[in-house]
Amino acid sequence: ETIGENLERAAARYADREALVEVASGRRWTYAEFDTAVNELALGLLARGVAKGDRVGIWAPNCAEWVLTQYATAKIGAILVNINPAYRAHELDYVVRQSGMRLLVSAVEHKTSDYRAMLAEIGFTQVVFIGEPGWDELVETGRRADPAALRVRAATLSFDDPINIQYTSGTTGFPKGATLSHHNILNNGYFVGEGVGYTELDRVCLPVPLYHCFGMVMGNLGATSHGACVVLPAPGFDAEATLRAVESERCTSLYGVPTMFIAELGHPRFAEFDLSSLRTGIMAGSPCPVEVMKRVIGEMHMSEVAICYGMTETSPVSTMTRRDDGLVRRTETVGQVMPHLEVKIVHPESGLAVPRGEPGELCTRGYSVMLGYWNEPDKTAESIDAARWMHTGDLATMDAEGYVNIVGRIKDMVIRGGENVYPREVEEYLYSHPDIADVQVIGVPDEKYGEELMAWIVMRPDTEPLTAEAIKRFCTGRLAHYKVPRYVHLVNGFPMTVTGKIRKVEMREQALTLLS
Ligand code: ATP
Ligand code: MG
Repeated sequence: ETIGENLERAAARYADREALVEVASGRRWTYAEFDTAVNELALGLLARGVAKGDRVGIWAPNCAEWVLTQYATAKIGAILVNINPAYRAHELDYVVRQSGMRLLVSAVEHKTSDYRAMLAEIGFTQVVFIGEPGWDELVETGRRADPAALRVRAATLSFDDPINIQYTSGTTGFPKGATLSHHNILNNGYFVGEGVGYTELDRVCLPVPLYHCFGMVMGNLGATSHGACVVLPAPGFDAEATLRAVESERCTSLYGVPTMFIAELGHPRFAEFDLSSLRTGIMAGSPCPVEVMKRVIGEMHMSEVAICYGMTETSPVSTMTRRDDGLVRRTETVGQVMPHLEVKIVHPESGLAVPRGEPGELCTRGYSVMLGYWNEPDKTAESIDAARWMHTGDLATMDAEGYVNIVGRIKDMVIRGGENVYPREVEEYLYSHPDIADVQVIGVPDEKYGEELMAWIVMRPDTEPLTAEAIKRFCTGRLAHYKVPRYVHLVNGFPMTVTGKIRKVEMREQALTLLS
C-alpha cells in the first residue's frame, strides 16, 4: 500500500473525525477535508510539472502546510526532502544541491535577501512560500484541475518507491540523507501507532519537529494510519504551548525527547494544567532517564507511555516498550523488537553475536531498513552489510526475553585506564541527586588514564552549586571508582540539535578549551 492509498482509506472510514489541528491559528481539518486539501495540493504540484521521483524540499517549522505537503508529495510519488528549519544559507545550499531539488516549499520567515541571493546564485527559482500568493495559486490550480490526473499518477506508483529523504539529526557529525520508501515509513508509523493502541478516538500532541522522523513518521503516519488526530501545539518547541494544547485539545497522547518532558515537568505553572485527558505518548530520541519516565507516568497521567528506540535510517523505530511490560521494563529498557523486524547484538569488530546480556553493537534487519543514503553509496555500504543488516553505531544489551537496553553510542563510550565507561550509567546515577536538574557526562583526554570523566550539571533552582569534591562524595561507594567524574562543569543547558539531542561532540570540543 502507498501512503496515498492509506490516507484515502482513512478518509473514507473516518470522514467526519478530526485529522489535523494547528493550535496556534485555530485551523482544523476533518479527514474528508484533509484528504481534499491534500488532493488539491497534489494536483497543483502535478500541474507545476512535478514528476515521479522529483525532489521537493520543505523548509519550515511545524505547521499544517508541512503535513499537507508530506501527503501531497507522497500521493504523486515525488521525493520529499525534509530540511531542518534552523538551517541557514550554506546548509540549505548543500541540501538543495545534494538532493538535486526541483521545487522548494518554504516558510515565509525564510524569505530574506540572503537566501534569495543564494538560491538565485545556484539558479534555483522554484520556491513557494507558505501563506503567500504563490501558495494560494498552487492550491487554486489544483482545485481547478481534473482529478483524473491523480489516478493516472497513482497507477504508476509502487510502495517500494523512494518518497522521502530524511536527514539524520547531525548529533555526531554532518547529517546524512536517508532515502526511505512508502513501505519503510508507512509500515513503521502503523506499527508504532498500534504499539501505543491508537484508534480514531486518539488525539496526538506533537511538539517534536515534523522535519524529523519522530514527527512525520511516528507522529503523522502513526496517527493517520489509525484514524487518530494530529495536534500541532506550536511552530517550534514551547513547553507552555504544549501543556496548553494538551489541555485545550484534550490530547490523549504526547510525544517528546527527554529534554522536552524535563522542560514541561519543570514549567513553573506545571501543576495548573489539566492533563487528565492523557493516556499514552512516546519518549524517544536519546537515552530516557528512569526518573523522568517515572514522573511522566505519575505526574502527567501518561500511564501507558512508551519508549521507542530507533534511528532515521530504520524508518525509524526498531524496538519499543508495551503497556503490559511492567514498570521496571517500561522505564529501564527500550522494549522488544517491533513486529516483522529483527534485532541482534554483535561484537563491533568481529561482527559475531555476543552472549545474551553482554554489550555490543545493535543491528537491525527487515522492511524498515532505508534504501540507502541519497547519492552516497560508500556511506551506505559502511552501515548496511551484505546480509542487509543495518549497523546502528549504538551499544546495547539484550536479556533472555529479548528486552533491549541501550548502553550508549559507540562514539560516546569512554575508556578510562582501560575500563569501558558508559556515560549513560553515570548520568542515571547522578540524576538521583536531589539538587541536580539535568546532567550529561563526557570523556575528556587525560595523560595518565587516557580519558577522564567530566559531568556537566544543571542545578535545580535555589540549590548550592555542586563541586567536584561533593560529586565524588556522592558517588563513593555507589559507583566503581573509575566511573566517578573527575571534573564538574556547572551549566544552564547543553549544546543541542533542533531535534533536542545533546551534541556531545560539541561538549567535548568545549571541554578541551575549559581544561586548557
Ligand atoms: P547523526 O546520525 O547525524 O549523528 P542521530 O544519530 O542523532 O544523528 P537520529 O537518526 O535522529 O540521528 O537518531 C538516532 C539515534 O538516537 C540512535 O542511533 C540512538 O543513538 C539515539 N536514540 C534514539 N532513541 C533512543 C532511545 N530510546 N534511547 C537511547 N538512544 C536513542
Ligand atoms: Mg545516527
